Amino acid sequence: MAEAIHADVAVIGGGVIGLGIAHEARRLGRSVALIDPAPATGATFAAAGMLAPVSELHYQEEDLLGLMLESSKLWPSFAGGLRQAVEATGYRTTPTLAVGADAADRRALADLRTVQLAAGLGVEPLSVRTAREREPLLSPQISCAFEIPADHQVDPRKLAGCLMAGLAAHSPGADTWVGGARDGFAVADSAHGLLWDGRRVAGVELGSGKSVLAGETVVANGLGAPALAGLPEGLELPVRPVYGDILRLRVPAHLRPLLTATVRGMVRGVPVYIVPRDDGTVVIGATQREDGLSATSNAVSAGGVYQLLRDAQVLVPAVAELELLEATARARPGTPDNAPLLGRVAEPDGYLAGLIVATGFFRHGVLLTPVAARIVGELLTGSPDSRWSIFRPDRFSASRGQPWPMEVPTGAHQ
Ligand SMILES: Cc1cc2nc3c(=O)[nH]c(=O)nc-3n(C[C@H](O)[C@H](O)[C@H](O)COP(=O)(O)OP(=O)(O)OC[C@H]3O[C@@H](n4cnc5c(N)ncnc54)[C@H](O)[C@@H]3O)c2cc1C
Repeated sequence: MAEAIHADVAVIGGGVIGLGIAHEARRLGRSVALIDPAPATGATFAAAGMLAPVSELHYQEEDLLGLMLESSKLWPSFAGGLRQAVEATGYRTTPTLAVGADAADRRALADLRTVQLAAGLGVEPLSVRTAREREPLLSPQISCAFEIPADHQVDPRKLAGCLMAGLAAHSPGADTWVGGARDGFAVADSAHGLLWDGRRVAGVELGSGKSVLAGETVVANGLGAPALAGLPEGLELPVRPVYGDILRLRVPAHLRPLLTATVRGMVRGVPVYIVPRDDGTVVIGATQREDGLSATSNAVSAGGVYQLLRDAQVLVPAVAELELLEATARARPGTPDNAPLLGRVAEPDGYLAGLIVATGFFRHGVLLTPVAARIVGELLTGSPDSRWSIFRPDRFSASRGQPWPMEVPTGAHQ
């Protein structure tokens, strides 16, 4: 075998999920090899960073809501546990405003509020006048406004930067890292596939031919997960790309602040959001389409850009005066039930040793970063919380042909 690198935990994928998990593993005292040729350039690079369990509530997604609310609770301590000041991540706990453009949007948001209230979530109606006192650049034409105290935000690029910097500082030695570039934070190779030692996963074979030997391997490479060689036989990881176009714009000095709160709008039935950042920029997003415009690229849709600017201007007319800095598209890792594939893979007599899967975070990966890190940390220390076994990664793998235990059985390989 070519040159091998040793670590307690190998994490494949350096998006927010892999970075959060690597951070937690380091916090637990484990050495970590984080494997990614281009960290934080996938969905993480595009994400708006809304931490929005309430606005993101969807019919029949109660299990996912529970996971989102749990992560929401963990956010303050997660952000506070980074080496940098909380502000360095762009974490803000300002309430979100939900606004509608016309009468039909008002009815749709009121219907959604009924569902949100039934789920015990707080959504307070505001008069348009009160909303405009808080956010003077909101259009006087909006039809309704609601305040959502629990929905917050973070800047995913800053968060990823903080997690990477923290990992680099904690790295116990170069031998636990793959590569050696990037300011001492070494991330330089792609994972080709899983290495096995008998019936357990023993690490990762890299694209370069090198390998990482690890007691635990975490598959956290988003849409790249199903392509890994050597996945357990019959394990289906049904993640599919759901593309999103998103814009970044600079607010000229005379219009600052454009907004103080995240504004989520419904404009003629189409959702749009405007997220203000501390640096005087705003993020306007996001489309949702399953039509990769070209086979290999993250091509931006002209129609998507048009739709976002058109709808954002209906809510905040001054959007037309902003400087367009960036139009980006990335794919969210979607799953059939919109929930992540998270946990160990079951075997008839327990769980497959040495492997944890954490992919399929779809629209909520930034929000779910703390809870994903917590759940994987608990799996690493052998103390899993059975509430989360509903997200087990083999739940779509009928060909593995077994009723999977909902509770961790005695004697499970942890
Ligand atoms: C437009 C848009 C807006 C969004 N807004 C929000 C939001 O407001 N709030 C929210 O919570 N979520 C949001 N999301 C969703 C969120 O971005 C994703 O759920 C999240 O980024 C998933 O994180 P991840 O680490 O699993 O995947 P990614 O961020 O895609 O990272 C996967 C990483 O794996 C690496 N990789 C792939 N294959 C390999 C391999 N073989 N070997 C090594 N590395 C590999 C890639 O280089 C990449 O760095 C948004 C997404 C989009 C596209």
